[in-house]
Formats: sequence, C-alpha cells, structure tokens
Amino acid sequence: MDKLQAGSGGGKARVAAAKQHRSSSAAVPAEMRLEAALTRRWWWPPLRNRATVRTMALPALFVVAAVAAAAAFVLTAGWGSSSSNDMPTSSFFDGSEPPLNITDEHFLDGLLSADFRYMSCRSRYEFAVYHKTSSHKPSPYLIANLRKHEALQKRCGPGTAAHKKAVRRLDSGEGVVDDDDGCRYLVYISYRGLGNRMLGITSAFLYAVLTERVLLVDGGKDTGALFCEPFPGTTWLLPQAGWFSFSPLSRLQGYEGGSKENLGDMLQSGGITVSADGNVSWSAPRPPLYLYLHLSGSYGFHDKLFFCDAHQRLLGEVPWLFMWTDNYIVPGLFLTPAFSDELEAMFPEKESVFYHLGRYLFHPTNRVWHAIKSYYHANLADVDQRVGVQIRVFQKKQPPRFVLEQILSCLRDVKLLSGTKTDAAGGGNGTSSSFSRAVLVTSLSSWYYDRIRDEYGGRISGGVHQPSHEGRQRWRDAAHDMRALSEIYLLSMCDVLVTSGYSTFGYVAQGLAGLRPWVMPRAPMWAADWREELDPRDMPCRRADSVEPCFHAPSAYRCAAGRDVDLGKVSPYIRRCVDVKYGINLVNESSGQW
Ligand code: GDP
Repeated sequence: MDKLQAGSGGGKARVAAAKQHRSSSAAVPAEMRLEAALTRRWWWPPLRNRATVRTMALPALFVVAAVAAAAAFVLTAGWGSSSSNDMPTSSFFDGSEPPLNITDEHFLDGLLSADFRYMSCRSRYEFAVYHKTSSHKPSPYLIANLRKHEALQKRCGPGTAAHKKAVRRLDSGEGVVDDDDGCRYLVYISYRGLGNRMLGITSAFLYAVLTERVLLVDGGKDTGALFCEPFPGTTWLLPQAGWFSFSPLSRLQGYEGGSKENLGDMLQSGGITVSADGNVSWSAPRPPLYLYLHLSGSYGFHDKLFFCDAHQRLLGEVPWLFMWTDNYIVPGLFLTPAFSDELEAMFPEKESVFYHLGRYLFHPTNRVWHAIKSYYHANLADVDQRVGVQIRVFQKKQPPRFVLEQILSCLRDVKLLSGTKTDAAGGGNGTSSSFSRAVLVTSLSSWYYDRIRDEYGGRISGGVHQPSHEGRQRWRDAAHDMRALSEIYLLSMCDVLVTSGYSTFGYVAQGLAGLRPWVMPRAPMWAADWREELDPRDMPCRRADSVEPCFHAPSAYRCAAGRDVDLGKVSPYIRRCVDVKYGINLVNESSGQW
C-alpha cells in the first residue's frame, strides 16, 4: 500500500508526503502570496511573453472545445448527476498529475463517501495528507448515519420529483397532507462571517440527521464558490427562488429574527398552545407548512424552547423548517433528551463532534484548495513544527498594544516559540534537540504580524508569515471569504494553535485540526465595560479544555423541571468554556489525548 500519510505528529515526514501531492508541474515560488494563488486561474500556466502566448494558442483551442463539451454534458446530464462536484472534469483540469493511490486514510476512515471524482474536489482526498494522522476514528454508527443521510439528500434533494412537489405545496400554501415521499426539509439561512456560518451549517446538519430532514443551504452568494458539495449525486444549495416569487423561500435573507411564523412568536401569540401538563399543540387544525427557528445569540425565552422534547415532537410535523443561527448549538442538542441517546451512540468521544462533521461537510473548492496548498508549500512546508497565531479583536477601544502584549506573554509563558518541540506542544519536559519552526499569523491587521516578526523573526528558522491583511471584515464578498477560508485551513494545518477567545474563526480552525488551542481571553466586549487600567498580564492565555467549539448562548432552562439550572453541572461531558463564561463545551468524560 502506498502510504501517503506520514505518521503522527506533523513534521518533516508529513511535509514529504504533502510534497508528493504538490500541485502539477511548476514549482511554487517562495514569494507566492495567497492573493496571487487565488486570483490565478490555476490550471492555466502563467503567460510570460508573446512566444508563450503563441505556443499556447493551439492547446487553448482544445481546452475551449473540451470545456464546451463538458458544458454540453452537464447541461444534458440532468439534476441527479449534475452537481458541481460530479462534473466530468478529470480530462480538462491538470491532466498531468498522476492519479492518487487512494487509501482508507483519504476517506478519513470511512467518514467520506467514495462516490465523488477526485478531480472535481481535490481537497476531499488530499485533506488527510496535510493534517495529522488521527487516532480519533468516526464510530461505525456515525458512518452508517451519514450514508443513510446521503441517500435521503439524493432522494429528496433539488431536481427530484419529491422536491418539486414539496416546493409547489409550500409556494401555493396547499397545506400539509399525508403522502408517501417522506421528504421534509431544513433550510439553513446563511448570515454573519465564515466561522459563524460554518458552525451554523454544522449544527443545522446534525439536526437534519437527527430529525431525518434534507439540509439545504441558502448560500448567500458564495457558498458554492467556497465549498464542494458534501453529498454525492445532489446539491445542498437551495435553488434560487425567482425574482418575482412569493415563495417563503424568496424571503429568507430578510428574516432577521421577527416573524409570525417563528416558533418563539407562535408560542407567545397563541399559535401554539401549551396545556397545564406541558403538552404543546397547534391552535389551528393543521400544522403550518413552514416555521422559522430563531437560534441566534440574541434569542429569547420562547425561542429557546426549541431544546424541549415536546416542542421537538411538534416541529416534526412541519414540512419546512428555516433555521437562523450563528451559534454552534450542538451541545444544546446533546442536552435535549429526545436526541441525547442517539448522539451518544454516534459520538462515543464527545470532543470529536465538530472534528468529524467539519471534516465531513467542508471541502474547499479546487481554486481555494490550490491557494491553500501553494501558500503552505511556499511558506510552511519545510519545518518540523508550525505554530498558528489567530488574532481577532472585538473590542474597538482595546489598544493594539494591549492585544500584542497578550499574545507575546502567551507565547513567552507557555514557551511556544522558545522551547523544544515537546514543550511547545504543551507536553512538558522537552528533550528533542534542534528543530525548525514557522509561525503563521492570521489577522485582519498587519500591525501584529510586523511586531511579532520584529520580536521573533530572526530566531524562528522557518520565519513568520501572514497570508493576508484584509483591514476589515467584508460582507458578501466572495474573494474576501476565499481568503478567510484559506486562512482557516492553513491554521488547521498547524501543530500548535494560539487563538482569540470568542472567535468562531479560531474555533473552526482548532476543530478541523483536532487541537486544543491556547486561548487568549477576550477583553470586555462592550465599549462601556472597557477600563484603561486593565492589564494584559491579568488576562493570561489558557489551554482550552476541548477541541470542540463553544456554544455561546445555550438555554439554561430545563423543560422537564420547568426551571433554569447551572449548565456546568448537568452532564459529565458538558463544561463551561474557558473563553465565554456563560457558554458551554462538549468535553471527553475521560481525558482522551488530543
Ligand atoms: P468571528 O467573528 O471571529 O467569530 O469569525 P467569523 O469568521 O464568523 O467572522 C469574521 C470574519 O472577518 C471572517 O469570516 C473574515 O471575513 C474576517 N476575518 C476575521 N479575521 C480574519 C483573518 O485573520 N483573516 C482573514 N482573511 N479574514 C478574517
């Protein structure tokens, strides 16, 4: 067996394996920047002079013809087989590359379906090469559920007769009728930054698996440009409703939390009645055709009743659910009795939920993946250890010097850049001699990078690197999101992480990496709470208890008891997050090594 994954623990062996995968013929120049890699049409060699243009004219004609043939194929292939990942791309892109000798590791120990073509989404097959070998295997029960869910997505997804019928009913308001299709839908409404979205999608997906609903992502503009399709033979992208459509599906982006079709509002307005013994039922003779689930950080008491068994029973009768969340609600699902047994069976190791589901769902498209690999090979590949530092500043009043001091004292206190390899991994007595290191800094600003490079640049053999500095967060900007996604994945390829508390950007990176990061606490969030006399040394970084993202806004209300409880004490695998005192984390009951 040609073993592409190079042992545990990163380092040069992993680099050697990754080099085998280095994309196509041309070596990546050392000065390659993420921006250049993303903007280059990567299957097309760079044009240097007119002679090159002339020599390429003929092949170009062939490519145009080939692309036209591919387009014709796609247009005639029909929905069932024409999702963007399933395109017959192999003969048109980078044909020089030898096919992979695919092993079980490329499918992440059975997590990923084998029903995709390699060339249509390389990251799906190459992820394992750029990440540590995992001792955290997906359970057979999780794998079986994923395969079952893929079949449901294909049977009921866009383009099928069942989906057309369901949309027609929704649009016409025909009302709920019993029929045999058994297709119900969960639409995830995308909003906020990429990290929030990835956590929201993961939460929605798990809820869809638990409730046997088809997940469709209302992708904003760029989900299709960022991620490959996760389910074979279908698409997870919600088809766009027409311009003049009156469909509820055309109003999703305008929702923003208030609607009479919202679960919380219906509970308050009497659309749903609650009996003295806690049973809930519809006030109308039939269930509604659709309902919003408002589960964002600012949700209220009635919205939080989503996490009650009785309300879940009622929701099961609604054909279309629209979920609005920027939160990682998964720990809340574990605390919902209706789901807890099933979840415990799927995830015997509680700390690995996002680790598995993130690796299952998210595969950067070829263009983004090419940029990630190019940057990695140019800047991070040839060292024993990569240290990722993710800097996110929420409090505008916070002076940059304060944040910088937090980072530098964290790096100093836990000897991340001065000790031996074992020290830096957080493991205690270092024994290895010299080894090389590179530092990856991600931040919207270049200021921190410049200071960290001034401080450490000369002493770090692999150098200090920052792929981009966007200045500020942008909305609905696909190129900006591609850079953000690239950086999340580059962070996930590191061996040690320092992250900014409260940031979902960092949570996704740590989850994909399978690392417990060192977390820098967030300064008081609100301007009014900021105090000049705060000392960064009073806010030391702490090792996270878990690889899992934090659920920032859990419901403390226990439905059966009819009162609030201390969520830090309700379950052996739920703990308060180190960075958000009212948030909760899934942790391993026994101290499994990560
Ligand atoms: P959070 O706000 O930190 O929880 O993370 P999100 O990812 O949800 O939103 C922040 C957004 O700001 C990202 O999606 C990016 O668009 C942008 N952003 C924040 N930090 C960085 C960074 O280090 N690099 C890049 N490229 N973009 C960033």
